[in-house]
Amino acid sequence: MRHHAFTLIVVGVTIALSSALNGAANPNDTEPPIVKPGSKPGQAPSDAIVLFDGSHLEQWESVKGGPAKWVVDNGAITVNRSGDIRTKESFGDVQLHIEWATPNEVKGEGQGRGNSGVYLQGRYEIQVLDSYQNRTYFNGQAGAFYGNQPPLVNASRKPGEWQTYDIIFKAPKPNPQGEGVIPGSFTVFHNGVLVQNNTPIKGKKTTAAAYSGATPKGPLVLQDHSNPVRYRNIWIRPL
Ligand code: MG
Repeated sequence: MRHHAFTLIVVGVTIALSSALNGAANPNDTEPPIVKPGSKPGQAPSDAIVLFDGSHLEQWESVKGGPAKWVVDNGAITVNRSGDIRTKESFGDVQLHIEWATPNEVKGEGQGRGNSGVYLQGRYEIQVLDSYQNRTYFNGQAGAFYGNQPPLVNASRKPGEWQTYDIIFKAPKPNPQGEGVIPGSFTVFHNGVLVQNNTPIKGKKTTAAAYSGATPKGPLVLQDHSNPVRYRNIWIRPL
């Protein structure tokens, strides 16, 4: 009798353990699509939209209208005072990978040194700046959600070195219950280091311009702040 009870306990514990390990299928789940990752970190996975592969700017245009006129050279594009450029396609929530380098030759101070920017939906800027031994206001340094939120840490590399941003952007959404917006968010890794951790985007103020409301989709914009900042390896995954 005691032996029988012991066996029941062992069987019961075994079943409980194995179901905990295996989990339980949820009939509402759909199978995750198969994506081939890049062969190295930072390379575009198979389902990404490649916005710049080093060879041309056909997916971009000038915000002033007409073709994007930044210089394409050596697998990179360089800001050349021809104005901001934007993608022809518009995006809502995205994962974005982008690489950038501020000029080798250090010129200027504060906001005047290696300034550019990555604008999601053309309005929310993650600041690009040479923030290596170059202090400025904290919500304006590299990795900042410009004018809103400083980065958690300063993970800047030296001038001229390639740096990465991996950005998860959730756009503010119109509130279905009525007025206002449901805040969006930024999560940003700078050179692999977390600098924005689910930072809210309330849809009120970006840079100098105040605005209201939410836009379902908008272009990705790169800022021409007159400094010859370079970009390369730009890809995006709509979420
Ligand atoms: Mg900027």
